[in-house]
Amino acid sequence: MLFLNIYTSGISKELFFNNKKASMIEKCRLASLEIASLDALNKNTVAAAVSEFENFNVTRLIITDSSGKAIYDSQPNYTDATYYTIFPEIIAALNANDVFYWKVENGAMLSRAATPVYAYDTLIGCVYMTEHDSVQGTLISTLQYSMLGITAALEVLVILFSIFFSNTYSRRMRKIMSSIRTVRTGDYSHKLKISGNDELNSLSNEFNDLIDRLQTSENKRSQFVSDASHELKTPLASIKLLSDSILQNNMDITTIKEFVGDIGKEADRLNRMSQKLLSLSKTEIQTECSREISYIAPIIERVIRMLSENARNNNISIIKNLDSDCPIQIPEDDLSQIIFNLLENGIKYNRKNGKLEIILRQVDGNAILTIIDTGIGIPEEALSHIFERFYRVDKARSRSTGGSGLGLSIVRNMVEKNKGKISVSSTVGVGTTFTLSFPIFYAEEDTK
Ligand code: ATP
Ligand code: MG
Repeated sequence: MLFLNIYTSGISKELFFNNKKASMIEKCRLASLEIASLDALNKNTVAAAVSEFENFNVTRLIITDSSGKAIYDSQPNYTDATYYTIFPEIIAALNANDVFYWKVENGAMLSRAATPVYAYDTLIGCVYMTEHDSVQGTLISTLQYSMLGITAALEVLVILFSIFFSNTYSRRMRKIMSSIRTVRTGDYSHKLKISGNDELNSLSNEFNDLIDRLQTSENKRSQFVSDASHELKTPLASIKLLSDSILQNNMDITTIKEFVGDIGKEADRLNRMSQKLLSLSKTEIQTECSREISYIAPIIERVIRMLSENARNNNISIIKNLDSDCPIQIPEDDLSQIIFNLLENGIKYNRKNGKLEIILRQVDGNAILTIIDTGIGIPEEALSHIFERFYRVDKARSRSTGGSGLGLSIVRNMVEKNKGKISVSSTVGVGTTFTLSFPIFYAEEDTK
């Protein structure tokens, strides 16, 4: 602010200074030329020449010789005096400089100028002038006061604006802080409303977006907990019922063995479910992409061997059509789980004497794995839900086959985590086709 004041009053002064300097130096030079043209430099010749400059309207005019002795002085008291001048401007002019000095004092502009006088390149004296200009002085003072007034008004405006701005800003910041505290207590329905169109407004939009996401993940989490406890409750209730029956009834050893066998099956189901839940939460936590390379065909062969007993029990024939060279970037355990879950479903939800066809091909840099079964199929309205946790099309049938509804959600998580894609198509009573696609891994990618 102070700088602005100094700067604006400086500009106005500079403007007057330049004009005055130019006009005074010009007058001095004209006088110098006139003096230089004189044949002799004495009181009479100079006085005669000076009469030519009357229209210069200067306050005081002094002409000196080269030693600084005054030859002419327009001041009445000094007109006839012969003295040595010691004004700094005269000393500087006798040192071959054009000099100008000015100041504003008591509302008047006081200016002094001096230039050397040369005759045939020899310095023979100097011309010194002073002016006392009250009109210009008043003008400068008025201008300076106006400038001061304007800048002072501007300063006040800036201060008022800063106070207003900082108040508004801190009020909005307090609102954000209070919203953060509200959300910290668990109220995800809270919405932050910040007016305006600035960074704070963008921040509030981001904040609301974040809260929405928190709300969604909180809903999913509680849904998962309630689904999981519901799923775990059923086998636990069966175990309780079966063991109570053994304790309360007098059973023969064969029935007891049967009941204990059922308890074992329920325990197996619980075991499988807890393993799948663990595997699911592990894939949801892991975000980092693996650098392990796996070949699909040998893993398919191994999974088929593992499931051959299931296929034989249902008389399902497995047809393979495998391209042996399909390296993809995925941990072997993940790939093995994906294939196991899909083939297990293909056998479990097939009909007696059905077929399960597995085709592996390379298409446009991708490994395409297609699993086609001739099973019960999935109704269209269920297709979009089969990858959800605990979802089963036919709950009773799935439970009887030991299904927990977790297999496909694990598959989808693992496929997507490893840059793959999965899709499904199905016709009820005809069969289901799952198609997986993974980018083929080329050796040079590793060196990048
Ligand atoms: P889990 O795999 O956890 O042991 P599950 O097989 O019931 O249990 P998912 O593999 O997630 O669970 O499958 C979800 C549901 O989708 C199944 O319950 C079944 O109803 C349906 N489904 C999955 N694959 C097929 C298929 N090939 N044919 C017909 N229905 C299928
Ligand atoms: Mg399954």
